Amino acid sequence: MAGVDSLPNPQAEWLAQSGLESRVLFPADAAYATRIDSYWCNSAKLRPSCIVQPHSAYEVSRAVTALAKTNQPFAVRAGGHTNWAGSNNIADGVTIDLGLLNSTQYDDTNQTAHLGPGGKWKDVYAELERHGRTVSGGREAEVGVGGFLLGGGNTFYTSRYGWACDNVVAYEIVLADGSIITAEAGGRHTDLFRALKGGGNNFGIVTRFTMRTIPSGPIWGGLALHPLDAVPAGVDALVDFTTNNASDPYTNMQFVVGHQPRFGGGVGITIANNMLAVEKPPLLQKSLALPEIMNNYKTTTLQEVLTYSSLPPNYYNIWFTLTIKNDASIVRKAAALHNEMAKELQAGIPDQDFTSHVSFQPVPRLFVQQSHAANSSGNVLGLEQNTYDAILIQASASVRTAELEAWARPKVCALVDEVRTFASSIEGGAVPWVYLNYAHSGQEVLQSYGPENVGRIREAALKYDPEGVFQRLCPGGFKISAVKD
Ligand SMILES: Cc1cc2nc3c(=O)[nH]c(=O)nc-3n(C[C@H](O)[C@H](O)[C@H](O)COP(=O)(O)OP(=O)(O)OC[C@H]3O[C@@H](n4cnc5c(N)ncnc54)[C@H](O)[C@@H]3O)c2cc1C
Repeated sequence: MAGVDSLPNPQAEWLAQSGLESRVLFPADAAYATRIDSYWCNSAKLRPSCIVQPHSAYEVSRAVTALAKTNQPFAVRAGGHTNWAGSNNIADGVTIDLGLLNSTQYDDTNQTAHLGPGGKWKDVYAELERHGRTVSGGREAEVGVGGFLLGGGNTFYTSRYGWACDNVVAYEIVLADGSIITAEAGGRHTDLFRALKGGGNNFGIVTRFTMRTIPSGPIWGGLALHPLDAVPAGVDALVDFTTNNASDPYTNMQFVVGHQPRFGGGVGITIANNMLAVEKPPLLQKSLALPEIMNNYKTTTLQEVLTYSSLPPNYYNIWFTLTIKNDASIVRKAAALHNEMAKELQAGIPDQDFTSHVSFQPVPRLFVQQSHAANSSGNVLGLEQNTYDAILIQASASVRTAELEAWARPKVCALVDEVRTFASSIEGGAVPWVYLNYAHSGQEVLQSYGPENVGRIREAALKYDPEGVFQRLCPGGFKISAVKD
């Protein structure tokens, strides 16, 4: 940290005048380098003029007020797990780093948990476990609370309790004018309360999420690796699971087709759990019958299974997403296109230091019913528009250099486009919904929520940020001002 009389840039001066000089990190500081290194994806490691690390909602308010008043571009970072450049960081601007707002507090009086946006799910679960409770949160240890919850949040419990955002009962949020308000279920600011459930960073900076908790306990689950020739049967198992998920909402699964050197190259992966610790639940019968290279299914803990979805840091990651009807022919097409892409990557990356995958995650109509049951205020995801059970696809390639990222990005994009074209040839095959948390920057996320929800987000953004500070000065994320009518 520099002293106030030697501040190296004008942004820092404004922050210092707001009493935040001791919270500011500059490029020459070791702590600045540590925070930049801690972004999960290399593409996100931009160089801001400075990083400000507030210790409280009040300090977030001071920072936002100073930056808004002086028209300084800024970014907001929570767990830092979004992969694309500019979502959670900004070159030559100020990054508001919420990493120190990372507390988890359990409130026994109403069985809720107060979560700081900069917390990591592994720490949230560890703290709540001390009280015999948990929340419907992330499926990976290091992912941050803030971005995950503002984008929706697909969890191990979505088929039982709806999206993670449906389980948030209150948001403490700093608005562009510096005011700190609470939007809560059935209480104040219900329009904002709803818009925050999938609407991203269009309204302000959330400084505290209050979530409903549920009992914690042992679970049963793990992952299984399959040879590539088991993929067609794996796809059938996925489609069967998605169709029948309502019969057992405590069981979850996803199926992945990937090129993973740590697993010896091309591989199918089933990740499956029963959250009530029922061993080998009947709903997984088809998945469990697939030919396997290995599995580690067992009675275990949430903390342990969090590591199974981990993806290593420090790659340049390219993610695109799309949603399709629960139809085996489309899933098979996506798997085949992935395998072709993996061959191209193998041919173009001589040291073979890359991974790629397509993951297929059930999004049955059941999810919409469970969202409504958990949260009568509704969210803005717009999934109720879908007539069919669906599959969420996340297509990804992870490479070691920016040049390789630029080379591989069009390939992942083309994969998704080709799947969409194929899906469009089947009635209801291409589902318009684009999942914010998996989307690439150019994908039309908010549009995909449908006109009513676009209207809700737009009205809330206009009402709570009438000067458009989060549209003009905070370019990261998916902006409602970019949505055309
Ligand atoms: C290994 C891995 C596993 C994952 N697993 C899952 C999964 O199981 N389910 C799932 O749904 N998603 C998953 N994701 C995607 C993940 O949900 C998103 O990347 C999410 O944005 C990460 O949250 P974060 O806090 O780390 O995000 P950041 O990158 O810090 O922030 C994401 C966006 O949200 C904004 N933002 C963050 N916090 C706030 C705040 N408090 N107020 C206002 N704006 C804010 C930022 O400005 C940014 O635009 C996974 C990602 C990775 C890399």
